[in-house]
Amino acid sequence: MKIIGNTKEVQKTVQGWKEDGEKVGFVPTMGALHEGHLSLIRKCEKENDSTVVSIFVNPTQFNDPKDFEKYPRTLEKDIELCMNEGVELLYIPQVNDIYGEVVPKMNIHIPHLMNGLCGRTRPGHFEGVLLIVGNLFHIVNPDIAYFGLKDFQQYTIINYFTNALRFPIKIKGVQTIREEDGLAMSSRNVRLNPEMREAASLIPKAYHSIKNMVRRDENVQTIIKKMTDVLMSNPLNQIDYIEAVEPETLQPIQKIDNDFVLALAVFIKDVRLIDNQLIQVK
Ligand code: AMP
Repeated sequence: MKIIGNTKEVQKTVQGWKEDGEKVGFVPTMGALHEGHLSLIRKCEKENDSTVVSIFVNPTQFNDPKDFEKYPRTLEKDIELCMNEGVELLYIPQVNDIYGEVVPKMNIHIPHLMNGLCGRTRPGHFEGVLLIVGNLFHIVNPDIAYFGLKDFQQYTIINYFTNALRFPIKIKGVQTIREEDGLAMSSRNVRLNPEMREAASLIPKAYHSIKNMVRRDENVQTIIKKMTDVLMSNPLNQIDYIEAVEPETLQPIQKIDNDFVLALAVFIKDVRLIDNQLIQVK
């Protein structure tokens, strides 16, 4: 496995592979790798000749500087995991390798996809995500890039951005990998102490609690109220949002009609966790 920090060297390496006719897949991450990341990497390895993984805790997507500081960093273990998975290139840039000395003050805003859900409660977050993803796409220039459906809004926004700017890159969404109790794996889960972990287990329980309420014409507020009650039964939990949205447009729905995405963000004390589940209407 090549480990490269230098941007030009990454560009040259991938270009060389492509000239040899290789198909190149890309998995961008912020490190602190877990089974969720590994499932993206494994899919990428299966579908491509070479896999590039990037590890970069991107400062421009953190609206809260404390969250950036506290973000888990486990670089040595990450390198070992990537090596074990047979990753061909691990790209680990520094901030100025990506942005130069001064971080560009620009952003792309996609109002209809960014104004709701995490875009509303984390202002500037998705603009920061697009700044890094656009940069990484230019540098790595893969054939396919893989993103987790746990971050459903992010996946939708990146898809739209890639098409709108005509990047010749195919975006693929990958199913969420979960802990045994159904909690979505996340790098942030390592920040949960046992008490907080117990409170977090109410997230999958909240989704489970509404399973039998999903039927056509059901009022969405009834479902949200039920989930709220389950989550709020532990005082460590504070709900950021729970919303039901139409999967393509991310617009909120009021009444159940077709399949929808049930999206939520919950603070377990100071640790913010999100989940997104596609709910199918029979
Ligand atoms: P992050 O390092 O959190 O930026 O995540 C890097 C990529 O891994 C993103 O595309 C995430 O959506 C994806 N990812 C994170 N957690 C999971 C999970 N539990 N299952 C599947 N994909 C995930």
